[in-house]
Amino acid sequence: MNYRGKKAAFYTLGCKLNYAETSAIAFALQELGFKRVGFQEKADLYIVNTCSVTNQGDKSSRNIIRRAIKQNPEAMVVAVGCMAQLKPAEVVTIQGTDLVLGTQEKFSIPRWLGNLEKKKTPEIHVTPLKEINQFTPACSWGGRTRSFLKVQDGCDYYCSFCTIPYARGRSRNQSVSDTIAEVQQTLARGFKEIVLTGVNIGDFGKSTGETFYDLLSALEKVKGLERLRIGSVEPNLLNDPIIELVARSNVLMPHFHLPLQSGSDSILAWMKRRYSTTLFASRVRKIRELIPDAFIGVDVIAGTNGETDELFRESYDFINKLDISQLHAFPYSERSGTQALKIPGKVAVEERKRRTREYINLSENKLRTFYTRNLGTRHTVLFEGRSNKTQMAGFTDNYIRVETPYDPSLINQIVSVKLVSTGKNGPVKIAL
Ligand code: SF4
Repeated sequence: MNYRGKKAAFYTLGCKLNYAETSAIAFALQELGFKRVGFQEKADLYIVNTCSVTNQGDKSSRNIIRRAIKQNPEAMVVAVGCMAQLKPAEVVTIQGTDLVLGTQEKFSIPRWLGNLEKKKTPEIHVTPLKEINQFTPACSWGGRTRSFLKVQDGCDYYCSFCTIPYARGRSRNQSVSDTIAEVQQTLARGFKEIVLTGVNIGDFGKSTGETFYDLLSALEKVKGLERLRIGSVEPNLLNDPIIELVARSNVLMPHFHLPLQSGSDSILAWMKRRYSTTLFASRVRKIRELIPDAFIGVDVIAGTNGETDELFRESYDFINKLDISQLHAFPYSERSGTQALKIPGKVAVEERKRRTREYINLSENKLRTFYTRNLGTRHTVLFEGRSNKTQMAGFTDNYIRVETPYDPSLINQIVSVKLVSTGKNGPVKIAL
């Protein structure tokens, strides 16, 4: 079917992986004639790529679906993504929703669009979890400088607090050679930096008999690729050979994102995480030993069931001692169907928020220390675009956000700069 003249609008909630997948869906629809328009515009088709990682993710997803319906009550409204897979019966109760498509179905949306007439009865098309086995490549081509490339999907870990394995299925990936082809296509569009994304990207290779190390060592040799950033990797999968590869590579950026989740071994065991604080600390030490100026971002969850005041303090003290650059702290969110609900010792919501704030304050101190330590040094920056009326921004190789007066000739250029001064966790000022 040809949809020439029809307008499609997209909204993505949640992670970078969702952004890459929305981009792939939008690209496929544009090939059929749709014109992509902003979400605030009146469109013929709205696609909402939902998130269900927390209660807030569910709530925001429902609000955005309602906003699409309000925007144009005549338009077809399609919900896809993790909430659509996990809670299709709940999504479909939002009056005006036409289609709820699961993890596998979201990549064949045109099958259900017909002539874009609103459905008399909303339809749900969701493949049961056990049968989800396809890997569909995706890559964000929205911005002009950095592209998020999906290299892996699904997760086999079943951490006790997480519903993602129930939404995305088993760990799977495409081959290293197919991923190289994806990277080459992205580079042909002018991108200078590629960020690898997935659910558990360190697990890459499970379905093709390869490893994450194989992928990284092959990608860093791709001609024309100037910057490759690794997304979040489970601490047990970030082994020494990978850290050593990043240390000697000019293409792999000195930037690590490690999901710690708690600095207490008791909590880590209840969470069914696959490492101890000792292993985590040794990973951070190894990075610092080989790449002293690397950016190390760490995820942590505050107020998980069973986290007493003492265990929170133990976690806080452990993190405080780590030489890391930034924390991404989130309050624990109960997810129905997860084993964590059975752990005794529920923490009051207000206390979860208070502990999250403590982590955020700690993060601000760590970021300031990291920025200050880098002042006076030179780094390369990939400039992205305007950050406000007068300034433009970009990131250094080690993920420091910098600002300089707007100069369009710098967009998508990699430039060596000196880091000069920093405000309160704001962007760092530079000298060219
Ligand atoms: S590793 Fe754990 S937290 Fe991460 S997606 Fe898998 S189950 Fe969820």
